[in-house]
Amino acid sequence: MTDVIVLGLDGATWDVLDPLIKDGRLPNIERVKSNGPSGTLESTFPPITAPAWLSMATSQNPGKTGVFYFLNREDPDSFEFESVGSDKFHGQSFWDVLLARGYDVGVFNFPMLYPPYSLGENGFMVSGLGSPEDDTITTPNNLKSELDEVADGYEIKVPYADPKYRGRPGKLESDLQGIVEKRERAIEYLLTEKRPDVFFGVISATDWAQHYFWRYHDSSHPLYEADGDADYDDAIGRLWERVDETVGLVADIAEREDATLLLVSDHGFGPVNKTFHSNAWLESEGFRVPTEQSPVQKLRTNYFPYLRRFVEPVVTAIPQLNDLAKSVGKSIRGSPGEAVDWDRSIAFAPKQNLTCGMIYMLSDDPEDRKAVVNTLSELRDTDGNRLEVEVYSPEDLYDGSNVKLAPDILFTIDNFACAVDPRFSTDDEFVTTGPPSAARSGGHRMEGIYCASGPNIESGGSADKNLLDIAPTILYALDEPIPEVMDGNVLKDVFTDEALSERSERREPLENLVEANIGSTKRDTNAVEKQLEDLGYI
Ligand SMILES: [Zn+2]
Repeated sequence: MTDVIVLGLDGATWDVLDPLIKDGRLPNIERVKSNGPSGTLESTFPPITAPAWLSMATSQNPGKTGVFYFLNREDPDSFEFESVGSDKFHGQSFWDVLLARGYDVGVFNFPMLYPPYSLGENGFMVSGLGSPEDDTITTPNNLKSELDEVADGYEIKVPYADPKYRGRPGKLESDLQGIVEKRERAIEYLLTEKRPDVFFGVISATDWAQHYFWRYHDSSHPLYEADGDADYDDAIGRLWERVDETVGLVADIAEREDATLLLVSDHGFGPVNKTFHSNAWLESEGFRVPTEQSPVQKLRTNYFPYLRRFVEPVVTAIPQLNDLAKSVGKSIRGSPGEAVDWDRSIAFAPKQNLTCGMIYMLSDDPEDRKAVVNTLSELRDTDGNRLEVEVYSPEDLYDGSNVKLAPDILFTIDNFACAVDPRFSTDDEFVTTGPPSAARSGGHRMEGIYCASGPNIESGGSADKNLLDIAPTILYALDEPIPEVMDGNVLKDVFTDEALSERSERREPLENLVEANIGSTKRDTNAVEKQLEDLGYI
């Protein structure tokens, strides 16, 4: 019997869902929403897939997990960046607590959870975004071939930011619809054949669709073409209709099993209509000094943005050139963000961010940091209009022993509507109109969603919550102890009075609750990076 089912919908926001619900197009999400409490679920800062899903599973803020983005420092004395792997989850996640207490847990398509590790004889783990498309993504290992059979060839990702989809919205839409179909068949199989006690599955296609199709869906977007291809104005709506069918299937199973059902998202979504080029700006202000480059390197660095503009339309016309273009792009792309003169620079932006701004200080002098922050706060666009810049220090946002690994300056511009791109642009401008690439016309926001329903859950109500609250709430729903290290609260107000009277909230040291012999699962950081590049994340 399944007690708890969580379905993660990457990038889900009420801003998109509510109008679709109003039009009667998402009957199943509407049903789950009206059966119990719902509201917004605040993300981590920054609201990005890797830190957000990790913080959801562990209920630890990034100051404890040390994960602030897809690539992270492991050591405060080094600027080596590592990708996120399952070792960050292992022994820290709510499912590790449940495993040690005898539950069969199934974790499905979870981002950055690679390589998968064993969840016992009857549990399973299927790695999601960040994993290779091969047979190493499941425990038990033979589960992959079962998924291949039920899904007619299981797939992890649709690389929406890959040049092969540029100017081909129809191809992308059909591939996204296709991968939701595969995901749904896998979920149905796992829930009905494997029947874990607790299941947590994630659908990522919603995020990819919103990144790419936002400019079709939003007539105020700078890349919206009024007389363009109106066929795709509703591609986001159609993808949600397809996902709604999956929600219906999962909700039916939850009802049959008398299980608690949670719908959650890792972050919200909104338009991206400007781009701030952080390294170009740091350089113009004299905060960042490039290394002396060889003439060839210089040529590559200076001309890469032009080359990118030239190559992408060619690839659109001749998709067969895609792989060649990608390998040329990768060999060049490394240089602009990395050619920092460490001795003469006081700050730099790492080769990694697009959602919010991140700057590392190379100088220990607090006056230098103040100078960067003050200049940043004065930022204006090309027309001289002040931009709305919010600047944070790590201590404002995080708490824990890994705060020291966080970027020294974190900032948003126009509440995430202006992307921050460390790559150099073709213009001399630091703020350009439009997103960093056409495939990222939509971007992340802090406000995700949640809905709860089930026999122990109140029949209505609405209050805003934080994604750190999800793991303790799952443990509480099962009347199991909660590790003291978890930052979130039990969402007591979603439970019925009867359910509350049958449960007690107990906090215990993590080491008492998980199995001691957690092996280290080492990851191949280059392999993970390769998977993320195709998705436009790094
Ligand atoms: Zn995304």
